[in-house]
Amino acid sequence: AKKQGGNTYQFYTSDMQADSVDQLALESSLRRALEREEFQVYYQPQVELKTGNIVGVEALIRWQHPELGLISPATFIPLAEETGLIMPIGEWVLKTACAQTKAWQTAGFSSLRVAVNLSCRQFNQANLGESIVEILNNTGLAPQFLELEITESVLTQNESAAIKTLNKLKLLGIEISIDDFGTGYSSLSYLKKFPFSTLKIDRSFIRNINTDARCKNITMAIIQMSQKLNLKVIAEGVEAAEEVFFLCQHNCDEVQGYLFCRPVPPEELEKLLWKGKRL
Ligand code: C2E
Ligand code: CA
Ligand code: CA
Ligand code: CA
Repeated sequence: AKKQGGNTYQFYTSDMQADSVDQLALESSLRRALEREEFQVYYQPQVELKTGNIVGVEALIRWQHPELGLISPATFIPLAEETGLIMPIGEWVLKTACAQTKAWQTAGFSSLRVAVNLSCRQFNQANLGESIVEILNNTGLAPQFLELEITESVLTQNESAAIKTLNKLKLLGIEISIDDFGTGYSSLSYLKKFPFSTLKIDRSFIRNINTDARCKNITMAIIQMSQKLNLKVIAEGVEAAEEVFFLCQHNCDEVQGYLFCRPVPPEELEKLLWKGKRL
């Protein structure tokens, strides 16, 4: 093994070094990004199928790196989570999204709701409730217009602590939504244990609604189950008209996806809100 190892080992070492240098560089620029105001919040509309109205928006962070350009949250959120930087970043997203939504409400879209993604560390922070109450007080947004999106994996670590946190948030009047539903574990028992208000059907099911009978049936079952449990159900990643047709037929509450709109900067979202108002 040693014999043939030489070059290969060399290769892997320099490769790994390059990787960790990248990682380090990314980490330190991530650290500075907040101060330098390189982050932005984009918004993607959530459309109510019954009325065609934009009833909510999902806040999605964007990072415009000065040299590297736009970096996807799928790349830097895990790094932020690992390093703990997600705490100040997540708080900034919450503040920004709540303030923006309050401004839209004041402009006349008085029942617009905002959904904000919460990472595992954020969900598990000791003073989550207090920190959110402070943000709501400072921005003037009423709690019923804030929805927090968490994934099932956030709940698996410490169930009883998670139930406590969720109950606390519920008492504050904040809605909890379960993101990427159907992709994690023990989804069904969780529905019984945890106080959610909304299920978001993962894009992997929606994408294959018209080509894969199992995806179609699972989607149908999730919608029916949500209705029985009095949960609001949102389909994510809707890209085709046939998908909307199917979701309408089965009384899915809301849809979100590129077919209607990609995540856009606040100015663009505001234009869409005004357009909708005239209809
Ligand atoms: P997510 O919460 O599941 O968000 C949905 C992702 O799907 C977004 O990607 C959105 O742009 C994308 N999407 C929406 N409609 C469609 C569609 O029709 N087709 C396709 N192919 N994609 C669609 P994005 O913005 O790149 O975010 C990726 C992930 O990064 C999010 O997945 C979420 O897990 C995380 N993330 C984004 N912003 C935040 C944040 O502020 N805080 C935290 N903790 N995580 C965030
Ligand atoms: Ca989400
Ligand atoms: Ca999702
Ligand atoms: Ca996801």
